[in-house]
Amino acid sequence: MKFPSFSYAKPASLAEVTQILAEDDSARVIAGGQSLLPLLAFRLAYPSQLIDLSGVSELEVIRKDVDSLVLGAMVTHVRNLTDPTVAECMPIIPKVVEHVAHEAVRSRGTVGGSVCHSDAAAEMPALMIALQARMHIAGQSGSRVLPAEEFLLGHYTTALEPGEILTHIQIPFTPYLWAFEEIVRRKGDFALAMAFAGLKMDQGRCTQARLVMAALCERPTVCSEAVQFLTGKAIDESVAEEAAGIALQGLSVRSDIHGSEDLRKHQARAAMKRAILRASKGE
Ligand SMILES: Cc1cc2nc3c(=O)[nH]c(=O)nc-3n(C[C@H](O)[C@H](O)[C@H](O)COP(=O)(O)OP(=O)(O)OC[C@H]3O[C@@H](n4cnc5c(N)ncnc54)[C@H](O)[C@@H]3O)c2cc1C
Repeated sequence: MKFPSFSYAKPASLAEVTQILAEDDSARVIAGGQSLLPLLAFRLAYPSQLIDLSGVSELEVIRKDVDSLVLGAMVTHVRNLTDPTVAECMPIIPKVVEHVAHEAVRSRGTVGGSVCHSDAAAEMPALMIALQARMHIAGQSGSRVLPAEEFLLGHYTTALEPGEILTHIQIPFTPYLWAFEEIVRRKGDFALAMAFAGLKMDQGRCTQARLVMAALCERPTVCSEAVQFLTGKAIDESVAEEAAGIALQGLSVRSDIHGSEDLRKHQARAAMKRAILRASKGE
């Protein structure tokens, strides 16, 4: 299908972006266009104008601060895959980005576009929840910061208000060793199940952990009870298996064309078990 008609603006500053958004409530920002352009082609979105963020250099920052890594909203998947500062501060980021789509999509798609699109089966929104990222938001009336868990409200739904944009993401340094596992039909596809395990180990025992499962229901889920179970334990196959089972409890996993509820839970449990074991060994 052809796109609906819209006008186009390419501002050079954040102030201009928020001013256009304040003046035109049907305007929409475009980052890499990898999710928005298909929506336009299918006539699922009808913006009056597209505001291209690629001229706003302040949205492209990658910076190491004292206690966190800062990623501008317009940092592409490829930059996250190849940037030495990202690899040094958060090696889990490039490891996860390797699983996002294919090279052509990764070269244009951005971390900001991915989290603002908030697809429940996408890697970056779930990763931001796992890493306890803080989302920096700007609008005409000022700026605010939300934890990723409060920013990502559900499938295709975020806490952004009309007129607001995501400017950058701040990811705090944490003591965890991270591992990521996902179930996909083919490499580069959206995930059928994702497991993020962050473990802090001391003399073979887990002293702190963060576990997140995603792509199974409306939004990524932080598995607090499984964390409680793991804390203080030496990690072996049976402990990891039990923790993964606890992580799945209470998740309302729907059966779909990719498999029954039981199959999807089984796959997710296996992914979480592997992630816990790998994180415990720092792999
Ligand atoms: C063939 C294909 C395969 C894919 N496979 C995967 C995959 O396996 N895993 C995965 O995670 N993703 C996948 N994607 C999606 C890809 O990661 C996109 O890059 C991403 O979802 C959107 O990023 P974008 O920069 O292109 O955003 P855009 O498409 O430009 O924007 C997406 C939405 O976010 C809004 N937006 C963008 N930036 C901002 C901002 N700074 N503030 C406020 N709102 C903003 C836009 O208005 C729009 O509503 C795939 C895409 C394609 C085309």
